[in-house]
Parts: sequence; structure tokens; C-alpha cells
Amino acid sequence: MQHDVSQIKEGKTMLLVPSLSLTDNVPPKNPAFFNPNAKWNRDISMLVYRIQASTKYNKTFADSICGVGARGLRASVEVPKIDTVYLNDLNPIAIELAKESAKLNQVESKCLFDSNDVCKFLNFEERDFRKFDIIDLDPFGSPSPYVDCVLRSVSNHGLISITATDTAVLCGVYPKVCFRKYYGFPIRSEYSNEIGIRLLVSFIALTASRFDISIIPYFCHSNLHYMRVYLKVEFGNSLANSVFEKIGFLKHCQNCKHRGVENLREQNLICEVCNKKCNLAGPLWIDSLFYSEFVKAMSGELENGENNAMPVNEFNRLKKMIQICTNELAIPSYFETDTIASMARKSSISLDKVISILSSNGYEVSKTIMNDKGFRTNATSKEIVNLLYK
Ligand SMILES: [Zn+2]
Repeated sequence: MQHDVSQIKEGKTMLLVPSLSLTDNVPPKNPAFFNPNAKWNRDISMLVYRIQASTKYNKTFADSICGVGARGLRASVEVPKIDTVYLNDLNPIAIELAKESAKLNQVESKCLFDSNDVCKFLNFEERDFRKFDIIDLDPFGSPSPYVDCVLRSVSNHGLISITATDTAVLCGVYPKVCFRKYYGFPIRSEYSNEIGIRLLVSFIALTASRFDISIIPYFCHSNLHYMRVYLKVEFGNSLANSVFEKIGFLKHCQNCKHRGVENLREQNLICEVCNKKCNLAGPLWIDSLFYSEFVKAMSGELENGENNAMPVNEFNRLKKMIQICTNELAIPSYFETDTIASMARKSSISLDKVISILSSNGYEVSKTIMNDKGFRTNATSKEIVNLLYK
């Protein structure tokens, strides 16, 4: 091969990647795309796919925009219960690298390759089966143009994992773009990333409902550069009919930081605390973003022998995240210690102290994996400020 290629190991998998992708600050698209910084989110994927693949469904996996194949190849090596992995990328150089890596890992017999437009690949009618059990969609920017194709080609009881890297759009920097991509409005606030995830899930849920499909969020996470959602898929009209109960709006008072959930049919935009007019975000997914049984299974899966090879610091980081998520309250929207401090015009109080003060005063309170300084509570913004800074 004429390009400069390096061999690396990620998880238990050997990967051939363009050398430039290891040295450039922003991994280049040419000759082929590989983002070494996404290792953490691929580690989480392997955990999720191992649980999902242990059910009787879920034996085929499609890495629909695979780049050099990092996620798909890791699934073929690290998720033994997946029978067949399909890797697709429009870039033939990326697919050539993925094929070579499959040989290195001796998994070429369970890997199939395609170099096609993502929708043509997913909806290819001449395959011997029509639906994939697990589909990953990780495009450059917004996943919104491809969500229909993913939902058309996923099997009943399957799982879809979707990444959005247009975080500025979903977090409220470009509300007009957000509306045309996701049919909803964001708000700029300290919990914009959560609003963004809820917009993304709402968009996918409403798209799914057109196909008589319902989705159940299993796990979601985000950082500065991406949001990622894992959604279980169930076919059937009656389940899909209930989608309207899970979609709503969230109002946010810029004055006193009060927030409230409003349903689809009626919205009261006046803040109950200070009587100012609130901003409205939505339509949003207002139901849970985590499925507690699944998060518990993630915790169990992490502890079993499969992860022995993982470096201790990475293992502990994953363990900590899953622990926080296990105890995370399902209250939509979190507060942040810095925002509360600036409301009180005082300096920040540590998250652990905030949690101990709120819980000793009888409030429900938990950390959140969405923000290192974030907490969810049934206390109002006013009650929080009064308790912390009285
Ligand atoms: Zn208010």
C-alpha cells in the first residue's frame, strides 16, 4: 500500500491506521479516517454490544460508516457472540485497510466488506437477509439524514448506536440548523448537552414511530465533541402509539434557573418561581435516557474476565462512570455547582459537599454522567441556593 500506515492495538484488536491520524491534532479524512481519541467510546460500545449479543437475537452487526473499521473489527474480535460483522465505508482505501486488519486478527471469515453509500449499503436488497441486529451509525456531523435508513434495516429487538458530532447545533449555537435537522429547538444552558441528547432521541423516536417502531434508550453519553445514544428497537403499533407520552418540552427560566417539563398538548411558559417568561426547548425525549437493568448489566459485564486486559486507569474510569449512572436520578435536567455559585455570587462548593447538604436536608440528589460538576435533584434552584449559601 502506498500510504504510510501504522499498526496499533486497541482493546484486544490490531488495527492498521493511517500514520497521520496518530500525529495530526484533527484526524484527517484522507487517505482514510481514524480517530484515536474515540477509543473510550469504542470501549463503551464493546461493553454494550457484548450484553446485547448475549440475547438470542443480535447476531449480525453493521458498522455502516466504518472508516478503517475500528469499531466493527473490535466487535468481531471482542464480541464473540456476534456471528457476522458487515463493514462499509464509501472510501475504498479505508475498506482495504479494514480488510488487512481483519486478516491480522484472523477474523476475515466473519467480516464482510462493502464500499457504498451508507443508505445503499443498509438497504441492499440482494443480501440473503434483510435486517441487521445491531447497527452503528457514526457519520461526520449530523446523523439525521441517515436515521430513516438505519431504522428500515434494523431487526425487531435489535439495537442501534448513533453518534452525533454536530454538538454545537444540538447545544443551541445554531437553533435554526437544529430545527431543520432535528425538528426541535435547543436552549443554551449549563445542561445543553442533555437537551441535545434529548432532541436527538426525540428525533429518532418520532422517525421510528413512522415505521411502527418504538425505541427504548439503554445508555447515552456525551463529551465536547460528540453525543452518543444506544437505543433498543421494538416493532409494533401499540408500543409505537405511546411515543407521544415520552415527547414533550422543557422550559428554562434564564432569570432564576428554574426548569419544568411540559407535555406536547399544553405549555405554560411562565416561571412558577419568579413569574418571568421561560425559554422553551423541544420537542424533546422527556422519558428516561438510561435503562436501569441494562446499566446494571454493563456493570456486571465490566467486572467479568473479558476486560482483564484493559489498563487499570481506563478500567477505573469506565467503572466510575457506570457506578454514577447506576445511581443517577431520572429527573430531566441537571444543575451545575458553578452556575449555582454564580447565582449566589459566591464561590463554588464541591460536588460531594453539595450532594451531602441536599440529601441531609431530605432532598433526592444524585451525580450525573453528563457533567463532572452536575447533579440531579428534586430541589428547585431557589431551594438549592438557599440551602448551600444561607
Ligand atoms: Zn424564574
